[in-house]
Amino acid sequence: MPRRYRRPVGRPPWLISWGGGRWRPSRTQGSAAPVQIGHAGVTQRFPCWVPDNEGGVAMPTPKKKVKPELTSRSSAADVTVVQDYLARFGYLGDLDADAIGAPTFPLGDGDDQAGVAGRPSGAKKGKLDAATKDAIATFQRFANLPVTGTLDAATADKMNQPRCGIPDSPGLDEFTTSGRRWATNNLRYAFQNFTPDVPENDIVVAIEQAFALWAGHTPLRFSRVAMTAGPEIVIRFVGGDHGDGSPFDGASGVLAHAFYPSVPPAPPTAIMGDAHFDEAETWTVVVPPGAGRIDLVTVAAHEFGHSLGLGHSDVAGALMAPFYGGPYRLVAADDIAGIRSLYGNFAIEHASWVHGTDLQIELDSAVESVRRYGFFTRVVGKPNTTNWYHLPVPTPVITKGNRLSIARAMLRFVTGGPSAVVRDVHVYDGSSRIAAHQEVNLSGSQAFAVFGVAHKPDVLWGNGISIGVRTGTGTAAARRIDVISGGIDYMA
Ligand SMILES: [Zn+2]
Ligand SMILES: [Zn+2]
Repeated sequence: MPRRYRRPVGRPPWLISWGGGRWRPSRTQGSAAPVQIGHAGVTQRFPCWVPDNEGGVAMPTPKKKVKPELTSRSSAADVTVVQDYLARFGYLGDLDADAIGAPTFPLGDGDDQAGVAGRPSGAKKGKLDAATKDAIATFQRFANLPVTGTLDAATADKMNQPRCGIPDSPGLDEFTTSGRRWATNNLRYAFQNFTPDVPENDIVVAIEQAFALWAGHTPLRFSRVAMTAGPEIVIRFVGGDHGDGSPFDGASGVLAHAFYPSVPPAPPTAIMGDAHFDEAETWTVVVPPGAGRIDLVTVAAHEFGHSLGLGHSDVAGALMAPFYGGPYRLVAADDIAGIRSLYGNFAIEHASWVHGTDLQIELDSAVESVRRYGFFTRVVGKPNTTNWYHLPVPTPVITKGNRLSIARAMLRFVTGGPSAVVRDVHVYDGSSRIAAHQEVNLSGSQAFAVFGVAHKPDVLWGNGISIGVRTGTGTAAARRIDVISGGIDYMA
């Protein structure tokens, strides 16, 4: 059983210096940037915010790399870079008054944050003291590194890895939640703008795929609407200071951040649920992404986890782990347990499966052999080819006078290994493609692969699951895929 946690409710210590006023950002606010003074190339940040500071000019804090090793002889500046990281992401608190500035954290409300209570405090700025070593050890534990309490190369690498801008919740195992969720299961999203890095239509498909990961395991339904409709989730691509008090930091480092929902029954403010992507990154939807490019589907799916109320997980394979390690367009068991702790599962009104012996092959010319067994259909693709295999699913459409909606598709298959990869999975209703899971790249034994449908439309004309397979080189056994069965779950 996964353990469930709620973030402790209480004001983080740095809020006290705000004079009692809660910082409530809004989308229309001109600027809520930290006050910064530039002097002879030095940027100093005070631990306070100035809301409605229309004329404020704030530059993002220059990103400093963590040095690969830290010893008692390291310079104060090098130690400070590490302390800054630890404070910013929830590992170090209660620093000396003249120490590191307040971490920026787009919680959307600012009244609770996990992990604050247990953070080592009293660290001296620039000193590799016991509190700082404690915090390093906590970070190592959270990041699944050997816990040494010293800043070694592996730890420095992890700190220099691109990541999410939301602080972590050290000390809490597995998934964490903000204790907040939307009161409705029907969420609407809109694009305030698009990144010029990716064609607009590809962004739309990528974002839908990211939402579909969460839709496949919950009653949640995500529909794209216009900005004027007042959507719960607004998607923005912005650089540097963008008016919410958490300026982005240029290429790499922090990639994105998002805002949690409100605490029910409190009504949400406009910025809650919104997801911001650092325009200084070079975004892509191509896999492999290429040097220096960041996979939009992966980062969006992670940020939408926050938009729905999830915090960070210390499970290495979880989508909600804070570190970005390349394309990962899946949710892990830990993510599913987390999101279901907030929203539960959907009720299956009808489930329909078809056996793999019904598999239809699109391009016979790319097939070396095909054989139908009692167990499955085995297809061996020709070397270095791609092909589509189609599974028509018996579709209820209307049962007992009610039209159903399509929640998700599922597949059971086994491939010969990395030379036979299920690259894409598309779900159709008649001639309409209602879900596109691109570049999921699944191989080996897949006993129950789930492909959510983000907007869960009414079923109209009959469903099909299309499987895009990439075949590499090697023996026939390595290039084979055994398609066992496929199915679709329907909601009322
Ligand atoms: Zn995150
Ligand atoms: Zn932002």
